[in-house]
Amino acid sequence: MDDHNDKCRRCGNCCRGMIWMKSYSYDDAFSLVKKPASEIDVEIALAKKYISYLNSLGLPVEKIKKFEWNNKRKQIIVHAKVGQCAHLLFVNDKAVCRNYENRPKQCRNYLCKKIRKDILEERTRVSESGQDLTAEASN
Ligand code: SF4
Ligand code: SF4
Repeated sequence: MDDHNDKCRRCGNCCRGMIWMKSYSYDDAFSLVKKPASEIDVEIALAKKYISYLNSLGLPVEKIKKFEWNNKRKQIIVHAKVGQCAHLLFVNDKAVCRNYENRPKQCRNYLCKKIRKDILEERTRVSESGQDLTAEASN
C-alpha cells in the first residue's frame, strides 16, 4: 500500500505474494564468506542475509527466485518471493497496514499497475483539458 490513498483500492495485493529484490555489492557479498569455494557459497550466504532482512520487515520468504550477477557493476541482485506481510490486516475486506507510520521505504515508494494507470490517465486528462482551454482562448 502506498501514499496515493485516494487511488488505492486497498486490495492488499502488494503486501503478499510479491517479488522483492535487493542488490549487494561484490565486496559486501564476498565479505559474508571467509573462503568461498564457489559462487554457490556466496549465494547461500546472501540468501540467508536477505531472508533475515525481509523477516525483520515482517515478510516471510517463500522462495529465493534467482541471483543476478552483474560483473560490470560488480553487484548481485537477489530476488525473493514473499508470502503475506505480518503487518497486513483486513478490516471490512479493506487492507490495512498495522505498521503504516514505520513501513519500509519500498512500501512507501511502491506504485502498483492500477495506480500507475490511474495517474497516467489523470495526467492525460489534465493535459487534454489544457489543450482545449488553449484552443478556446485562441478562438
Ligand atoms: S497499492 Fe495497489 S495493489 Fe496495493 S493495496 Fe493499493 S490498489 Fe492494491
Ligand atoms: S509493511 Fe505494511 S505496506 Fe508494507 S508490505 Fe507490510 S502491510 Fe504492506
